[in-house]
Formats: sequence, structure tokens, C-alpha cells
Amino acid sequence: MFLVDSHCHLDGLDYHSLHKDVDDVLAKAAARDVKFCLAVATTLPGYRAMRELVGERPNVVFSCGVHPLNQDEEYDVEMLRQLAAEEGVVAMGETGLDYFYTPETKPRQQESFRNHIRIGRELNKPVIVHTRDAREDTLAILQEERVTDCGGVLHCFTEDRETAGKLLDMGFYISFSGIVTFRNAEQLRDAARYIPLDRLLVETDSPYLAPVPHRGKENQPAMTRDVAEYMAVLKGVSVEELAQQTTQNFSRLFHVDPSRLQSA
Ligand SMILES: [Zn+2]
Ligand SMILES: [Zn+2]
Repeated sequence: MFLVDSHCHLDGLDYHSLHKDVDDVLAKAAARDVKFCLAVATTLPGYRAMRELVGERPNVVFSCGVHPLNQDEEYDVEMLRQLAAEEGVVAMGETGLDYFYTPETKPRQQESFRNHIRIGRELNKPVIVHTRDAREDTLAILQEERVTDCGGVLHCFTEDRETAGKLLDMGFYISFSGIVTFRNAEQLRDAARYIPLDRLLVETDSPYLAPVPHRGKENQPAMTRDVAEYMAVLKGVSVEELAQQTTQNFSRLFHVDPSRLQSA
């Protein structure tokens, strides 16, 4: 079985007491069949540091972008364009809108989101979208900026079935994290049942929000396995089939050569 963690912050894990280094994290993941990761950046200096930390590996690709919660300072859009064009970068982001934590930076978040989509279209790299308390504006900007040209994924999905439908209509993929396993996530499970298998991705968003039964512990890519097992039950398929489908979807969306997504 081959699973992909389609969204993790490898630079945010605990390398003091929990893990020795990135090799250690990836070995623990591989032991549970999670054999490939997309390491997601949240600032431009963070992107550079992440590349340094992870190095060149056959089983890790990167995104480049500035998170909506990191819009308190301006950044150089030209620099974003340059870094995003680098080899090994398969996506823009994470970008999007978060009005829950930082409503005061709304205008800057929107401008930044638009820039990520524009650059994504130029470079033919899909966008990784984060949204919280900003459903209408997120959908409107995706539409206005013609995101269908580069495609994208709504990561760590916490919206409802209707929003999922609108995203699917735009050709979007939808990624589920450990939140889908939480007791009070019934609306989310309803959406998950509705989304076709060929548009689903799984992720950890580690180090945040570990899935059941690891709640309270630090999340890590290995726990993609728990999300996948849970999603398989929801979708009424075997975990092997869910793994195969989501890995194929990952390859298609992020233009990652399928030969990199097979067990040796
Ligand atoms: Zn996010
Ligand atoms: Zn994230």
C-alpha cells in the first residue's frame, strides 16, 4: 500500500524529543505505508528553511506560499514568483482566507490569495487553499481569478456538502485531515460521503490536530494512515483502494510522476 500525506508542515515537528530528524519522521511514516509527503510552506523565509531542513529527496515535494494568517507583514510578490518556480515546488500555498483568527488583515489576505492564484496559473502549479470563516469570499476569489486554469485543493476541509459541490464544479480536489475523525464532525462526514473518490486527498496538516486515536499528541505524517482508514470506512471501500485512489489523485493534481508514487 502507498499513501501520500498531501499536506504536512515538516518544519513544525518536534525534533527535540519526539523525532531525531526528518529521516526519522519519514521512516515512521513509511512503516505505516505513508511513503510520500508534500511539505507545505507558510512564509517565504519558512520555505527556504524548509528546503534546507528537508534537502533533496525522492519522496518529498514542496509548496511555496504565504499563509493567510501570516499577512501581518507585506512580502515581495516577485520573490514568491521566483521561489515558486523552483524545481521540486509542485504547488502554491498554503494560501486562502482565514477570517476567524485574523479578520483585521482581510484586504491583505485577499490580495495575497489572488496573487497566489495568478502565479499558479502562470507556472501551471495548483493552489493549496485554506479557508476558515470565509466561505463566500473564498469561492468568489477562486472563480474571479479563474483557478480552473491551474486547479487546486481545499485542504483540511471543514465546510459542508454544498460548498464541496461548488468546489467540485470548479474542478477542485478536497483534502481531509484528522478532523474528520472527531466526534462532533458529523457535517464533515456527510460531505466526505458525498465527494467522489477520484477527487479526494488525505493529509495530516501535522503538527496540528492529530486524528483519533492520537488526539492530544503531536500529529505526524505517519498518522495519514489513521485518516485513510477512517475515510475508507466512510466511503465503503478498502483502505487499499482508498490509498490507490488518493495517490492517483495526488499525482494528477500536482503533476507528480506516477513512477515516484510506487513502492520500490
Ligand atoms: Zn491550513
Ligand atoms: Zn497547513
